[in-house]
Amino acid sequence: MIEVQGLCMHYGPTVALDNVSFTVKKGEIFGLLGPNGAGKTTTMRILATHIMPVKGSAKIGDFNVLEDPKKVRSILGYLPENAPLYPEMEVAEYLNFVLQARNLTGNTKKKRLDWVLIHCGLKNVYHRPIGDLSKGYRQRVGLAQALIHDPQVLILDEPTSGLDPVQIMSIRELIKELAKEKTIILSTHILQEAAAISDKLLIIDRGRIVGKGSVDEIAQSLQPCTTTRFAVRTPASEVKNSLSKIPKIVKTEILNEKEGITDILVETSTKDSIWEDLSSLARMNGWDIKEIREHSFSLEDIFLSLVDKERVEK
Ligand code: ATP
Repeated sequence: MIEVQGLCMHYGPTVALDNVSFTVKKGEIFGLLGPNGAGKTTTMRILATHIMPVKGSAKIGDFNVLEDPKKVRSILGYLPENAPLYPEMEVAEYLNFVLQARNLTGNTKKKRLDWVLIHCGLKNVYHRPIGDLSKGYRQRVGLAQALIHDPQVLILDEPTSGLDPVQIMSIRELIKELAKEKTIILSTHILQEAAAISDKLLIIDRGRIVGKGSVDEIAQSLQPCTTTRFAVRTPASEVKNSLSKIPKIVKTEILNEKEGITDILVETSTKDSIWEDLSSLARMNGWDIKEIREHSFSLEDIFLSLVDKERVEK
């Protein structure tokens, strides 16, 4: 549904995007994840036809963003990071203005207005000035303007930024509901959010792609070996000696030897589990196992290994 090829963008000397390519399938929720200044907004603004890249191309559905920007806009709903709302307008006035701008009239206009009011939960605030609404409700109005023409593709720039936990949950649920019918790209710099909501992730830093795929795929690609913590009631020398006979074990490190229990970290050269090997070794030698625990990468591990740590801390 979305094909992005070799996008490059710079603002003066600042490189915002450097050869970014990705594809998003129909019905997918695709998360753009990266620290501040990574290039997420720039990518979205190019897809939304607000700015032109210096190099590369992008297609949404059948339309090229550079050659057919009007057609792209007709099948696209875009919620920028700071939704373009007029605080002095009532929700009713604003949504009717957007309907007019989208050339929706008659029965279709009424149907679409009813749909966004229900699905974005705006019925109760329909006659309130936008400036009087909470941030969560303003975000809902922003989403309503992005959805009003029933677009096939939604681009949401940090849709939950600045919301409280309850508002975040309700926007996330709404996004998941929308994904049943639409293809969605959303950006966030919050790791847990990206993992909780997206089918696929693109991790970018300083305009370059540093990771791509599902959370599991990204973790797998980062995990060239398996690290397992193994604790048994046996002297360390005996454990080390027996482990050295298992070919796929490349490294062992004694963490602790206390009260007859050896606690050892075992690293293998493969991603495969070594749980079976360790438990049968213990069984064969009559060792009393205290613990076998495989280390798995946390989301933070993944993010920090992909993204330059110094930049995250800035
Ligand atoms: P954030 O999470 O902070 O919104 P982002 O990932 O969306 O960041 P972008 O806004 O795309 O990142 O910015 C990428 C880089 O381009 C940054 O270094 C930013 O300072 C720079 N940049 C973005 N817009 C402009 C602009 N209009 N003029 C100059 N530099 C810009």
